[in-house]
Amino acid sequence: MQKIINHLVQLQELTLARAEQDASMSSGHLDQLDQSIETLTNELPLETQSMMARMLNKGPLAIVPIANKNCSACGMSLPLSVIQAVRSADKLHSCPNCGRVLYYTTAAPRQTSTRSAGRRRQEPPKVGIERFSAPELMIPRLESGDRDGIIAEICHHMEEKSFIDNGTLLTEEALKREAIVSTAVDHGLAFPHVRGVEGGGLTLSLGISEKGVKFGGPGRTLTRIIFFMVIPTAASAFYLKLLSGLTHAFRKEDAREKLMSEETPEGLWKALVKLTKSSIS
Ligand SMILES: [Zn+2]
Repeated sequence: MQKIINHLVQLQELTLARAEQDASMSSGHLDQLDQSIETLTNELPLETQSMMARMLNKGPLAIVPIANKNCSACGMSLPLSVIQAVRSADKLHSCPNCGRVLYYTTAAPRQTSTRSAGRRRQEPPKVGIERFSAPELMIPRLESGDRDGIIAEICHHMEEKSFIDNGTLLTEEALKREAIVSTAVDHGLAFPHVRGVEGGGLTLSLGISEKGVKFGGPGRTLTRIIFFMVIPTAASAFYLKLLSGLTHAFRKEDAREKLMSEETPEGLWKALVKLTKSSIS
């Protein structure tokens, strides 16, 4: 059964990757994704195929990990007997509240909740992009010259600024996601991310590569603007909206040039807040 569970998790990742391509208005990898989704689907037992189709029709999540004894999608606290049954993986078990299939996973990176973006005390309520990010998470000059180095640089920066407990683990998870299909899209943008990072809200870090790196984007485009996100499972649907808002804001060349020209974290932060004002509410 563990094999089918892994299979379902991968199928869901592919389906989400496809939704991400739609949200970022990129057609770069659609054929490849559609083909992989079809192949994986056909390898499943018929009954499981229709169950997945039914669930994915309702929303982006059909199978979710248990996080801290709760269903990571609906947040319901799970009885010990359910947790044990899920761990044994003898058959597929569903959340008694939301009906999603549950699986057990070993330690994922976690957010350091006291530092979650937008959650600091004694500050006025935040709006727009300010709810998901902070000036400390801006990196105006990334140094690495390749994709893996760039991702590691951002992940370790998030650890250094106490937003994440383990930058190395976060890097590994982000590279696993890139291996499914590149998160780079048109206009030199990329949206690498890690889903299932619990302990806080959706958090975004922005890094700029002046020279540009090969990120696996469409054609021979070099990627220069990298939006890295850690996404709690329950924020998966919202993430797609944010992705769409960012794509909308930075389709315009002058908006991208403005980000590229900023040399300090504070300057980059101000530019990001201003340029996303109308596309991210
Ligand atoms: Zn649930």
